[in-house]
Amino acid sequence: MSKKLLLLSTGGTIASSVSDSGLVPKESGEDLLKLLGEMPYNIDVKDILQLDSSNIQPEEWKFIAEQIYKYRNDYDGIVLSHGTDTMAYTASMLSFMLQHIEIPVVLTGSQVPINVVLSDAPDNLRLAFAAAAVCHPGIYLAFDRKIMLGCRTVKVRTINFNAFESVNVPPVATVTSDGIVFNYQPKIENKKCVLNTKIDTHVSLVKLFPGFDPELLFAMVKSGCQGIVIEAYGLGGMNYIRRNLVGAIGKLIRMGIPVIASSQCLYERSDLTKYEVGRLALLEGAISAGDMTSESAITKLMWGLGQRMDVHEISEFFNKDIAGEITLK
Ligand code: ASP
Repeated sequence: MSKKLLLLSTGGTIASSVSDSGLVPKESGEDLLKLLGEMPYNIDVKDILQLDSSNIQPEEWKFIAEQIYKYRNDYDGIVLSHGTDTMAYTASMLSFMLQHIEIPVVLTGSQVPINVVLSDAPDNLRLAFAAAAVCHPGIYLAFDRKIMLGCRTVKVRTINFNAFESVNVPPVATVTSDGIVFNYQPKIENKKCVLNTKIDTHVSLVKLFPGFDPELLFAMVKSGCQGIVIEAYGLGGMNYIRRNLVGAIGKLIRMGIPVIASSQCLYERSDLTKYEVGRLALLEGAISAGDMTSESAITKLMWGLGQRMDVHEISEFFNKDIAGEITLK
């Protein structure tokens, strides 16, 4: 029997057409499906949003998670069509909001609208459906012949079709003339999915640069910020001469504000134990993001704070692998 799949469409370039004000999402999920031609699956479609993904924010994450949760028992897999710009954030957040999801949920989109002759949309959509039919349960992102774990993805290109990369882990699968070739599959857990959309959005993601004034972090906290991810240098180094960021982190931690140290380098892990400039921050209580993407680190922080975790609990939470987002040593 053919697999029963659901397409939830949310807009993005894939569903866009040209207007006087630029590209805007206008096509329905049915329109997307029509352009694919015959598919070996039994596919239902629901249009749940029609947004450029720059406008997809925590309110939409919650709504999308609720929709997936609601329909998950009726389908073998779900495809979520979504703009590419914030797709990696949505994929990461869904990994925390929908832990132990019982079916594969596959996000996809395209760099070129589906109604353009040379669009990458048909291939990406076909791949997403194929992934939703054969992958183990989990949250994935399928793009340009790669199926990736959602919480490991980053958008790395604005124009070329290979827009996404799976960072620090190989893609779950790639497509060759043999079809879908798996590198690995996440373990099947046989647990029940719990929908948990409680998050705290009062967080900040700061990219460190020489000359950054640490006092700005206190200004953020004064304005309600409850947790900060700092993209530090290399393995996680931070300055302490003249502008004492390391000291500021210590103060923030003692104020109950978790500070996560990730790396500006896209690839490989942060490790605060190697250099003095990292070790001092660690001694002050900075929490390492390990080899997580910034997209995963900021959404994990929002989700952890939403569960009312304190600094100590956030630190323990960041040392746990929830959905494959971190490699634990
Ligand atoms: N601005 C578009 C979006 O994210 C880009 C795309 O889908 O490729 O919705």
